Amino acid sequence: MRTVVIIGGVAGGASAAARLRRLDEKADIIILEKGPRISFAACGLPYYIGGEIANRAKLLVQTPQAFRARFAVDVRTNSQAICIDRTGKSVEVLELRCGLRYRQKYDKLILSPGAAPIRPKLPGVYGPKIFSLRSLKDADRLKSFIENQHPERACVVGGGFVGLEMAENLRRLGLRVTIIDMADQVMPALDREMAEFVHQHLGRHDVELVLGEALSGFEHSVDGPVTTCLAGGGRMESDLVILAIGVRPEIGLAQKAGLKIGPLGGVKVNEHLQTSDEDIYAIGDASEVAEAAAPQPALMPLAGVANRQGRIAAENICGRQTTFRATLGTIIVRVFDLSVACTGANEKGLRTNGVAYLKSYTHSVSHAGYFPGATPMAVKLLLASDSGKVLGAQIVGVDGVDKRIDVLATAIRAGATASDLTELELAYAPPYGEAKDPVNMAGYVAENILKGDVKPFYAEQLGEVGDNQIARLDVRTRVEFERGHIAGAVNIPVDEIRDRIAEVPCQSPLLVYCQSGARSYFACRALAQMGYEVMNLSGGYVTYCASQGGRLEIPQIERYSKPSEMKDLPLSPQPAGPSSADDSVVSVGGMEYDI
Ligand code: FAD
Repeated sequence: MRTVVIIGGVAGGASAAARLRRLDEKADIIILEKGPRISFAACGLPYYIGGEIANRAKLLVQTPQAFRARFAVDVRTNSQAICIDRTGKSVEVLELRCGLRYRQKYDKLILSPGAAPIRPKLPGVYGPKIFSLRSLKDADRLKSFIENQHPERACVVGGGFVGLEMAENLRRLGLRVTIIDMADQVMPALDREMAEFVHQHLGRHDVELVLGEALSGFEHSVDGPVTTCLAGGGRMESDLVILAIGVRPEIGLAQKAGLKIGPLGGVKVNEHLQTSDEDIYAIGDASEVAEAAAPQPALMPLAGVANRQGRIAAENICGRQTTFRATLGTIIVRVFDLSVACTGANEKGLRTNGVAYLKSYTHSVSHAGYFPGATPMAVKLLLASDSGKVLGAQIVGVDGVDKRIDVLATAIRAGATASDLTELELAYAPPYGEAKDPVNMAGYVAENILKGDVKPFYAEQLGEVGDNQIARLDVRTRVEFERGHIAGAVNIPVDEIRDRIAEVPCQSPLLVYCQSGARSYFACRALAQMGYEVMNLSGGYVTYCASQGGRLEIPQIERYSKPSEMKDLPLSPQPAGPSSADDSVVSVGGMEYDI
């Protein structure tokens, strides 16, 4: 009978214990958890603080008693592992309630101690009004501070997913919120132009953003506000501060035991999740994982990864040669009524790693535009320029973002190409999707680029070529053009191009754009067949505005309304299906928005 000791009883640890029991009824399985609980929902903490999760007990996914009863696991809460004796194969345990110390023998050991919120060594960082969020105790402390002290202003330092969730929940409680981040964007896993949609949305919800500013410390007064000091000299007063600048793997035990630590500061593991000691496994936030999108390892503090790794470690301990496939880092976060998601590589990473890639931007609607409630989504797709394989995706929208990012994450895992995306047969009925689903559309557009049907041009290239170096043709309606356009553009609505061909600028190449890239694609196909050298602005004016870093207001999408003058131009083969141009236009702030 083998004895397996698991250090940490939440996401990874509890998952490992449950899988171990399912595979080995006889094993002696012991969970050592220094906290009073196992298996609580850390991911729900921001929503508990904001009140959307009203019942605290709902966060306790499993109690030690229920876990013992179901899995016959010896759950020892309030039991801290304080050191590992690798030679004697034992763990020294401190019972926190009585101070008792004892040695627990193991045959196999799983480390799942998680990661701790980073507290930089800065003046005032441990002040009473500075909060971070990891445990239920942290949440209780913050919740009771809010209920008893009635703060009015909050600074959230860090614009990652925990910071964004906290900003939303504090706004929900009526606090004025400022997010500070040293990067020039929130959600670092997104590329800058996609993050711009989030920036603007935060603004609509009165969340102030201070970007590109590093923290230099905090000043506290006895009964007054706390001042957050910025390296650039800025000072911001608030009644509380949430520090959400990331987490640091808990590697103390592993380090003391002489286990190898990776370059990013997580425990180094192989594909079976074994550390440098083959009888010790490390999983979850504490370990470094292989990343699908990059040659170097990554820290990926995500619940799904920890759960998956728990299962894999258990399988290996039970003799199955299961391997952990590199993580895609699939993330989704709700920012008020916006859903923001990404999977796989981002453009920043591909550039850093010298990977040759192509990209496409599409703007689709969540379900058939004529059915009530359709909302837009911006999709960025990254592909290998040689094979056309999907490398990464980012989606920002209101509805249906979750299912599209999951399809794309699955596609990446399966090694799918842009063409494969066009062939995905996804569920469709008007309330749920589009006959040409946003994922299919992203595939069509990327495939058009790969096949050379259209040459893409990207908004950031405009800056590179200079204002007057390239002629621009805006094929939107006059109303759209008058509301905002790219400097120097000539406006000929798409439906008038054939009649007004003499007015089309004859410089080569000619940059054609519309609101989203769809009408301009029709125009490009027509003009190309008439002998013009044309390029289509990928993602159109909407993506252009986003890439301008917020200097232009990104148009908001309103309800579907098909302008009567909009006709389909049958210029290029369109994918078969019940949907055609009739559901390809929505109104954006009163303007046409082609989908
Ligand atoms: P944990 O779940 O943190 O468990 C580690 C446990 O080990 C802790 O209970 C700790 O007390 C115990 N421990 C540590 N050292 C010892 C020791 N020496 N002896 C005994 N016990 C020890 N992920 C997502 O994918 N989606 C989300 O929406 C999301 N939201 C989040 C929101 C918040 C506020 C937080 C804090 C995290 C969120 N996460 C989310 C991340 C997710 O919770 C973690 O990635 C996941 O819990 C990691 O699992 P783990 O087993 O590695 O560590």
